[in-house]
Amino acid sequence: MRGLMQEWPLLCHKIMDHAALYHGDREVISRSIEGPMHRTNYRNIHERARQVAKRLEKDGITMGDRVATMAWNTWRHLEAWYGILGMGAVYHTLNPRLFPDQIAWIMNDATDKLLFVDLTFLPIIEAIADKVPSLAKVVVLTDAAHMPQTKLANAVAYEYWINEADADYAWREFDEGTAAGMCYTSGTTGDPKGVVYSHRSNVLHAMTGAQPDMLNLSSNDRMMPVVPLFHANGWSTAFVCPMVGASMIMPGAGMDGASIYQILTEERVTMTAAVPTVWLMLLEHLAKVGGSLPDLQRVVIGGAACPPAMIKTFQETYGVEVIHAWGMTEMSPLGTVCTLKPEYKNLTGQARLDLQAKQGHPPFTVEMKVTDDENNPLPWDAKSFGRLKVRGPAVSSAYYKGHGAEQFDAENWFDTGDVAHVDEHGYMQITDRAKDVIKSGGEWISTIELENLAVGHPEVAEAAVIGIAHPKWDERPLLVIVRRQGCDPSKESILDFIRDDIAKWWLPDDVAFVDDIPHTATGKIQKTTLRKQFSDYKFPGT
Ligand code: ADP
Repeated sequence: MRGLMQEWPLLCHKIMDHAALYHGDREVISRSIEGPMHRTNYRNIHERARQVAKRLEKDGITMGDRVATMAWNTWRHLEAWYGILGMGAVYHTLNPRLFPDQIAWIMNDATDKLLFVDLTFLPIIEAIADKVPSLAKVVVLTDAAHMPQTKLANAVAYEYWINEADADYAWREFDEGTAAGMCYTSGTTGDPKGVVYSHRSNVLHAMTGAQPDMLNLSSNDRMMPVVPLFHANGWSTAFVCPMVGASMIMPGAGMDGASIYQILTEERVTMTAAVPTVWLMLLEHLAKVGGSLPDLQRVVIGGAACPPAMIKTFQETYGVEVIHAWGMTEMSPLGTVCTLKPEYKNLTGQARLDLQAKQGHPPFTVEMKVTDDENNPLPWDAKSFGRLKVRGPAVSSAYYKGHGAEQFDAENWFDTGDVAHVDEHGYMQITDRAKDVIKSGGEWISTIELENLAVGHPEVAEAAVIGIAHPKWDERPLLVIVRRQGCDPSKESILDFIRDDIAKWWLPDDVAFVDDIPHTATGKIQKTTLRKQFSDYKFPGT
């Protein structure tokens, strides 16, 4: 017997319809690329997104065409996303921090036809446009007055372009399984691979993400996604915020500590989200200027492990609750969030901080398991760690063009490439990426755990641990340290600081000091480069 409820396709643009109708006055505030703050609301975004859709059709864009964006978080980027997906085309976010050749490779792989680009990134596109034959038009996200001279033959200013169409446009209707967006994994895990989101997966994921034990967003929030829309589907903020009617505060290109602090306070942001490196810059700035965060209630930290020292500073010094989250591009991207279930609600002090350092528990729609190499599930004992696998309606079923097929099994489980354990209440903790874990004498050492401990040392700014070949143990950990400005800690003081919190055989065999630790385009420590940097390194006495 069939249910007798309506077929109502889950289409992303219905989110913006709802936002315009019921939260039309809610503000979308951006630091514009041209400089001044810009204020609009969901009613206007809805209107202009339909202009974008209509104008794209005039340019010959049709259902299924890939339309790229290379842009910071601003209102124009949001309009472009909704305009693209509302006419059945596919937004394809490009990460400007990748090497130009890699960007060209990705654009060709996706066969992008049109590109929306910020003024900041125009030089990148000028340099590679010749290598992307499918690219027929470049829309520069600015007005005619700020449109620069460009050698691109087919470039036009967004404000001029959009005004060649009105908003008298009915969104296209189609099946909810239709592609809405694309994002390539940045290559931390090998060659870039295309992840293709559907309308259905984005809508379901936004509904999941808004829940109280996830991001807990409502129309009373003023949410600032510092995480760029070009990282992992913008952590779904472009869908969750309008869905619940939360205001969006868009930081534009201002990603340094001072700019983030200014916009957080001036725009009374209640919730924000970014990777740990961004928060490191903010906390350093706050300490320098003696700042405070009276309006900010919650900060979502993910993309890389959040060190407990950072959780402590946010919560105890600034009264801001940290929500540690784990996910990945292939998961739309939220996988787990560390909110406190009743079992842990009453934890205090260090025990609470230790719990918050875990990546958390999955919501409904994310299935998760940890297995050994033979795919046998491991017990939930908070110590047996193995391969982390997931499946669900907002998890990739394949990469674009079938690359990386070995990561998916016959039962749809996707191997995340992460190594983790789970505790008795279902809280998952990442101990490593599979290729970073150190294998010492047949046992595994978690590099993340060592890094988290080391950055708790008051004179350490950043820490990374890599495995170095060892004649007896195969591999042993080397701790690489960036000192805090003006500090000069000794190797012994750092090792003494972490010694009591780990098994004896986990203690790094040596400490190396560097000025900088390399980062990937998504803000993670770039262990491949670091390993190369230390390829000639030998432990003392080996
Ligand atoms: P890329 O590999 O392109 O940088 P993603 O942004 O999709 O792509 O990164 C996902 C990976 O980031 C995860 O598989 C995991 O290794 C890491 N990650 C994300 N959040 C966390 C977290 N809270 N703690 C530890 N690692 C994390």
